[in-house]
This record gives sequence, C-alpha cells and structure tokens, in this order.
Amino acid sequence: MILRPYGIVLDGRLEVGVEAIFEGKEVREIRPHTGIPSPFVLSPAFVNHHSHLEYRGLMGAIPAREYWPWIREITRMKRTQEEEIVARDARQAAIENRACGVGAIAEHSDRPVAAEALVAAGLTGIVFQEVITFFETQGPQEKLAAIESRAESQRAHGLSVHLTPHAPYTVDEDTLRTLAAKGDPLSIHAAETPLEDAFFREGRGPIGDLHRELGLPMRTAGVGVVEYLAGLGFLRPGVQFVHACAIDDGDIETIAQGGVAVAHCPRSNRTLGCPIAPVRRMIEAQVPVGLGLDSAASSGPIDIFAEMREAVESSHRLHEPLTPEAVWRMATAPLPWSFPTTGWIAIHVADAHHTLDLIERGRPDRVEQLRLIEA
Ligand SMILES: [Zn+2]
Repeated sequence: MILRPYGIVLDGRLEVGVEAIFEGKEVREIRPHTGIPSPFVLSPAFVNHHSHLEYRGLMGAIPAREYWPWIREITRMKRTQEEEIVARDARQAAIENRACGVGAIAEHSDRPVAAEALVAAGLTGIVFQEVITFFETQGPQEKLAAIESRAESQRAHGLSVHLTPHAPYTVDEDTLRTLAAKGDPLSIHAAETPLEDAFFREGRGPIGDLHRELGLPMRTAGVGVVEYLAGLGFLRPGVQFVHACAIDDGDIETIAQGGVAVAHCPRSNRTLGCPIAPVRRMIEAQVPVGLGLDSAASSGPIDIFAEMREAVESSHRLHEPLTPEAVWRMATAPLPWSFPTTGWIAIHVADAHHTLDLIERGRPDRVEQLRLIEA
C-alpha cells in the first residue's frame, strides 16, 4: 500500500517530497513522490509517557497554582468522586488522547478504571497501579493487598499492570524498597519540586511538617531525592522518573548511569510552579526522555501539540533550547518497556516546511489515526 502525503516526519524531522510504501503497519520503503501528493503529513503515532486519565473531570477545578496546595486539594477532591463518574472521565480522556494522535500511554491509575478506558479507545500501553501508604490507616501489607486486587481487576482487559509507588514521600520506605526489588517496570513521580530534596536532606518544608503532623517517621537521609531513591534500588533499567524538574548535574549523571528513563510534563510543571526540567542536559547525558501529558487537572486540555509547544518554549526560558525535532522525538519515543508498535497518523496541516510548523499549527482536530494500514 502506497501513502502519498506531502511530507513524512522521520526521526523528528519533516521530510517533504516523499511517499511511503507500507507492508502491514511497517514502512517498507520511503521514496520520492511518484504522483500528486495529498495535503497531509505522515508521522508515527504519539506516545504519552505519563498520564492520569481518571482526573479528566477535574480539569480547571483546582484553583491552586503551586504544587503543595494543589496536591493537597486534588487528594481531598478525589475522595468526593464516585467511581462511576471517574470511569466515565477516564473513557473520555482516553478518547481525547487517541483523537490528538496518541497511540500508546504509560498510565498511572489509582481507581481501577484506566485499562478498560485504554482498550475501549483502541490504545495500547502499560498501566501503573499507584501505591500510596501515606494518609492510610491500614498497614502497608493490607494496603498492598488491596492495591494488588485493583491491579488484578485491570489485567482482565489484557494490558500489563504493575504496582508502582506514587512518589518517594507518599510511600513508606519499606514499601519503596520492596517495590524496587521486584524488578518490574516502575514509574514514580520524582523531583517534581525542590520540596522533596528539602525533606530528604534535612526534614524541612511542608513535606516534613506534614510528616510531623501525622506522626510519621522522618526520613532525613542527608542526600537529595535522587540519591535517596538510588539507595533504595530505583536506579535501574525499567524505572521511569516522572518530572525530574529539581535535579542538578550530579543527579543527571546518576540517572544516566542507572539506565533510568524520564517523562517530561512541561505544561503541568508550568501550572504548578515547578522548576523547568533540564531536558537538554538529560538528552546530552543519554537519558531517554519522553513527553507526558500528565493529567488534565494540571496540564489542561488533552493536546500533544500544546504539550510540544510548551516543551519548546520552556526550554527557551531555561536558556537551554530544544530543537523542534528533539521535541517531536520525545513525543514519539517508544515507552521504556516493550510493547507493540503504535501505528501512524495523518496530520492535516497545509504547507508545513519544518517540524516547528507542525508543532505550531497542529491541533487535535487536524489529526487522523490511520487504521487502514492494518490491511
Ligand atoms: Zn503524575
């Protein structure tokens, strides 16, 4: 089957004047046009490296524009939601991911509604069932058993589902060590703000205050959060750190040597006042970095083009600019765990000459998933 767009995005770079010969879902050959092209661009489908489908209904609902009050507020609001509503929100979010050209998602799931939503929307990916032991009256063993049964119910939809710690400070140390030692795929929010470093280095800041208030043991390790996680066994392949905003060059070296991947979520980071993640330095250190849409509650509308625009713009604000091609590669990079290929999309933007034109003018309603290619 020949597809004759006016251009194809290859390794992040828009090449115009070429067409593709497909065999099933795979491209067999790219060659110069042999006929009149159609007004669209072909690209590998996008990959959403970090997502919380179930918070779709909370888009615009949390006024806080700072991480700590925001996380406290979403934790409170979640408790008021009925599971049926959450399941509906997750289905809507999955459909919106698919509509903007996403083919695969690394999904963080708390309530057990994501796998069904992903499959119903025709998406593939991996589900991380989040473990939080903070705020719990149950002991870690009972809590883990309850979460494992949620994970099991999601496995019924045919996706791989793994228990993962939500964040270093919301999970007790024994449970963190146990989960890291299993050797399974893991995805953990890490270094989203400097508050984690302040807590693990010296027990300071709002995380320390909350531990004191709840009577939880302090975990003053005298090192920052990346070194703390290293000490618990998290610096290994198969682990993804989500956000990695508040890190220095030493942390980047540690992450690179550990073979850890990073999910970059620039719109959420901007909303919550997090430091801009040093993505260019991570890429230069050979850390695999993928783009994540995080949740609509912090990122806003589910739109990979808006996320790519913010990835470009925030890198300029940091004075460590990323090329549009590098950003497109992050948005189409495979997940760091093996899973099937995700197919191709058509983007109906006319007269684009460079990848930046597609990023600037791309919108969800200009994307079409190419299902025909199965033939
Ligand atoms: Zn998240």
